Amino acid sequence: MPDKVSRREVMKLAGLTAVGIAGCGVASEPAASAALSAGALGALGAARGGRYVLPDLPYAYEALAPLYEERTLRLHHARHHAGYVRGLNAALDGLTAARDAGDYANIKALSRALAFHGSGHVLHTLFWNSMAPGGTGVPDAFARAVRRDFGSLDAMTAQFAAATKGVEASGWGVLAYEPLGAKLVILQAEKHQNLAVWGVVPLLVCDVWEHAYYLQYQNRRGDWVDAFLKLANWEFAANRYAAATG
Ligand code: FE
Repeated sequence: MPDKVSRREVMKLAGLTAVGIAGCGVASEPAASAALSAGALGALGAARGGRYVLPDLPYAYEALAPLYEERTLRLHHARHHAGYVRGLNAALDGLTAARDAGDYANIKALSRALAFHGSGHVLHTLFWNSMAPGGTGVPDAFARAVRRDFGSLDAMTAQFAAATKGVEASGWGVLAYEPLGAKLVILQAEKHQNLAVWGVVPLLVCDVWEHAYYLQYQNRRGDWVDAFLKLANWEFAANRYAAATG
């Protein structure tokens, strides 16, 4: 079941009653929309007019240094993430062309490209927001949900670190909300799209492709994951959780 405390706190932040949210009667008011959109993918600037675009970072390129240096962050965002955006739009263009031509000879490659680049775009968009200069504390309501599902904050971060460091080859550590069982889970995503559970809402993600850390940390993936946890934006994760359960 949804976390009632989180939901109440979102409503309090938004200045809304349950009826107000359920009816969407006042959700367009600035305070409400700001709070409700804080955890929404659509609010992160990664799509515009039906096309996917490279979102701006929520901080300056040098803002995460020294834990995540400017050169690595700039290349990662401006080159690697931009490549996934191009690949995603190209896959969709290819599918449009295939439909127009009635020629599905390349459907397998196009479908694979859609999943790969689409998942890459989503995860990188979440990744930039999963960090904040200096990191943040864990909001109380989210901390209660973490203790409910992992026993303690330390247990959750220990599992997240172990899972992320242990991803086979290229991939991600993902803290997510699984709505069927109404619980938090930690996943190891290989590449961008493998080993997911359908329907989960990713809340906090750590990129462990070598492009994410090799310039700064070389083969010391563990050091990079430890640095990421010092930068973790738990307020963003909490907003995503509240939006998913509200
Ligand atoms: Fe990456």
